[in-house]
Amino acid sequence: MLETKDEISLEQLCGKFSPQGILQQRFQHRRRVMARVLAPSQWLEAKRATDLALAAALLVPSLPLFALLRLFCGPVQRTTRVGRWAETFSEYSFDPKRARVFSRLPCLLNILAGQMSFVGPRATIPGELTPNQRTVRRRYDVRPGLLCTWWIRQRANIGYDGESLADAEYAENPTLAGDVAIALRAIPAAFYGEAVEEVPEKVSLLDIPVDNLAMTEAVEVLVDLTDSYRTQQVAFVNADCANISFKNDDYRKTLQEDADMVLADGIGMKLAGNVLKRPIKQNVNGTDLFPRLCAELENTGKGLFLLGAKPGVAEAVANWVRENHPGMLISGVQHGYFSADEEPAVLEKIASSGASLLLVAFGAPRQDQWIAAHKHELGSVKVAIGVGGLFDFFSGEKQRAPLWLREMGMEWAFRLYLEPARLWKRYVVGNGLFLMRVLWWRITHRGGESVAMGQGWTEERRV
Ligand code: UDP
Repeated sequence: MLETKDEISLEQLCGKFSPQGILQQRFQHRRRVMARVLAPSQWLEAKRATDLALAAALLVPSLPLFALLRLFCGPVQRTTRVGRWAETFSEYSFDPKRARVFSRLPCLLNILAGQMSFVGPRATIPGELTPNQRTVRRRYDVRPGLLCTWWIRQRANIGYDGESLADAEYAENPTLAGDVAIALRAIPAAFYGEAVEEVPEKVSLLDIPVDNLAMTEAVEVLVDLTDSYRTQQVAFVNADCANISFKNDDYRKTLQEDADMVLADGIGMKLAGNVLKRPIKQNVNGTDLFPRLCAELENTGKGLFLLGAKPGVAEAVANWVRENHPGMLISGVQHGYFSADEEPAVLEKIASSGASLLLVAFGAPRQDQWIAAHKHELGSVKVAIGVGGLFDFFSGEKQRAPLWLREMGMEWAFRLYLEPARLWKRYVVGNGLFLMRVLWWRITHRGGESVAMGQGWTEERRV
């Protein structure tokens, strides 16, 4: 069983995958924590005074900037928005294309007028949302804001569960500590750049062909692939994998030629995409994908084989699956510390298990090369995925970074904190090296490589 002290535990996130369930658990936990700081109703009163004071204090010194922006970026624009109690108001802004980060400076006037707040759900445009669902209605209980959890999650590329959920979560329980935390988390988010919708389906990053999919799309494709006629190989690639592939030709070839699908994992890949002008749609990592995939494969009769990690760990993951996704068939488990002599027996065990989905957790590059070498010996396995440390998280062996750190794109820092001796090189040296490589690539490959690699998924490749 997982036991985490996170703001939202992995169990909560990955448990019965119902958005309402997750929402409720988050609210309950936050309520307990935040009640110690300031009751939400008290904070809502104090918040207005804080907004007023802060907006007034910022407005005075920003008047010269206002004048400059007015001169160079045109007049202040008014856009009709829906605010608190679903009432419409005019939001003030400069032309975002010309004023860029300063375009929302005039919103200080909306804050002074009591129409907006510094922190709160995004102000919607009329007709954009129908407030017929509870989660949608909740957002109109509070003033809309400049910064919100959804804005942060999208920029950190982890906006998997939709805006309504993030906003309802905020509106249910606004607190001083929560608002300060959102403002602080917005700082790194500002550097990560906007979330992108329209992206090429396939991009090349540092010579690695990446399938540029959102989480839900990746899950859909994987479910489809479980019906293919041969074993499809799937790999996750993060900054560390990219570093390895930079030096290890065999691993790079595995990603380029053997893998049928390569998914971009982590904030490093998003930053690389920004720098190389190949925007990455979403952080599609195994740990967030796994429970979603289990939810889709439940009651389909498609079995799961868990291969890898220390003895006992794969069994613990199987127990997690049985508990949280009882309709998911477990075809077999096997630890990842077997000798070369034992390998044929392991392959036989997988081939005779009847599994459709195989997760291999040996760490990169070994897991991906192992799949490439053995995918023709895996019997009925249709999808084989290299999943790194995933089993350690779901077995409770290792704790996953809390959501607020993931929202800041700092999951790696938490892993480093837990295992400094093993991971300092990977993250302290590796992250810097990765960014340097990306920048160097940008300088040396200016316009050299096409942005999009064909049309992405084709039927021949899929099935
Ligand atoms: N592992 C394994 N056999 C080995 C070496 C490692 O099964 O010979 C497992 C290890 O126990 C761990 C996973 O491979 O569960 C690698 O985890 P790591 O944190 O390095 O992966 P990452 O997610 O960082 O790629």
